[in-house]
Amino acid sequence: MEKAKYIWMNGEFVPWDDAKVHVLTHTLHYGNGVFEGTRAYKTAKGLAIFRLRDHTKRLLNSAKITAIKVPYTLEELENAQIELLRQNSFDGNVYIRPLIYLGYGVMGLYHVNAPVEVAIAAWKWGAYLGDEGLEKGIRVKVSSFARNSVKSTMGKAKAVANYLNSQMAKYEAIIAGYEEALLLDEEGFVAEGSGECLFIVRDGVLISPPNDNSLESITQDTILKIAHEKGIPVERRRVTRDEVYIADEAFFTGTAAEVTPIREVDGRIIGSGSRGEMTKELQTAYFDIVYGRNPAYEHMLTYI
Ligand code: PMP
Repeated sequence: MEKAKYIWMNGEFVPWDDAKVHVLTHTLHYGNGVFEGTRAYKTAKGLAIFRLRDHTKRLLNSAKITAIKVPYTLEELENAQIELLRQNSFDGNVYIRPLIYLGYGVMGLYHVNAPVEVAIAAWKWGAYLGDEGLEKGIRVKVSSFARNSVKSTMGKAKAVANYLNSQMAKYEAIIAGYEEALLLDEEGFVAEGSGECLFIVRDGVLISPPNDNSLESITQDTILKIAHEKGIPVERRRVTRDEVYIADEAFFTGTAAEVTPIREVDGRIIGSGSRGEMTKELQTAYFDIVYGRNPAYEHMLTYI
C-alpha cells in the first residue's frame, strides 16, 4: 500500500511509520473494535469526502452496539478526518479508515476498563474489485459459510469481529478462482457479499434484500435514492441464490466496491455476461454524484 504522511491517533497527527500499538492491545486478542470505510474523491472543487456524516454516525453506532465508550464527539471525529486529508495533501482519490479499538493495559474478557483508542488512516486506493471489474463485471461464488447469525453476532455494527466470517468467505472464493463471495443467511436467503450489498434486476425491477442480515450500507442507500429519483421500481425483499442465477443483471455496492457488476455466479452467466444497462445507468449516476458532477447531491459531499 502507498504510505501517506500522517495517521491521526488519539488527537495527534503521527508520522505514518510511527503509528504503532503494543502487542497486548486488547482488540488484537479479543476482537472488540469497530471501524469505517469512507471514500474521498477528487472533484473539480478539490477532494470531497462522500457522506462523511453518515459514515461517522455509523462508526459511533457501531461502538454503541459493541459497548465501547468513545471519548470523541461526532463533530470531533468528522473534523479529524477532514484535517487528516488536509495534512496529507493527497493528489488523488483516497480511502479513509477510522478505527476504534481497545488498547493496552487490561487483559481478560471484561473489556470496560481497557483504554479506548481511536486512529484514522487514509491512503490512496483505486477500485477495490479492479478497474476491469467495474466495467466487465466480476465472477462470484456463493459461500459455504453462512453470514454471521443475528442470534450470536450484531451485523448492524461494522465490528472487527464480524470480518472473520467475511474474510473466510473471501478466501474461499478466491482460492476457488472467483473474485468475490456471496453469503446467504442461515435460512438460505441472500445476506450480502463479504464487504458489499447485493442488487439484482428482473424485468426492469431493482431488487435488494432487506438489511436483516447485513450491514446498513450507505452505498446501497445512495443507489436506492438514485433509483427513486429515476422512477425505477424497487423491491426490498428476500432473494434466493437461484433467483440471482436467473436475474437479468446483478451488482454489488459498497464504499470500497462502489458499483461493481456481477457477470457470473457459481458458473451461471448473469444476463448477457457483462455489465447490464440498468447497472450502467446507476453506476454512472453514482460516479457523477461522488465526483461532484450532480448538484442535487452536493449535500452528500464534504469538501476538504
Ligand atoms: N456489507 C459489509 C459486510 C461491508 O463491510 C460493507 C462495507 N462497509 C458493506 C456491506 C457496504 O457498506 P457501505 O456501502 O456503507 O460501504
